[in-house]
Amino acid sequence: MAGRTARKAPDTSRCPNCRAPTLTQWVGDRAALKVTADIRPLTPEQQTAARTPHRLIWCLKTGPHAAPRLRWIGGSHPTTCPHPHVTDHHCTTAPSTLF
Ligand SMILES: [Zn+2]
Ligand SMILES: [Zn+2]
Repeated sequence: MAGRTARKAPDTSRCPNCRAPTLTQWVGDRAALKVTADIRPLTPEQQTAARTPHRLIWCLKTGPHAAPRLRWIGGSHPTTCPHPHVTDHHCTTAPSTLF
């Protein structure tokens, strides 16, 4: 098992601008898309509202023995999904306003 390396471990950090807790991860086939998501779970109402201005909703798959992973929510995503759903982090704080 010596050669087994974790593939692109997600980076749980905070937004440098507004310091919201975020998760940055490459998502998709061949890591096609880099996503920075708020890790605060959304209510179904918030998910609906977030979708309206073209924000993406992600399924944040978590477990006791695994790092959190963002999953694309496709058409076959179960409505009874037990994992929190989150959306892209859209920073409302300009960097220049910090300090
Ligand atoms: Zn889900
Ligand atoms: Zn931010």
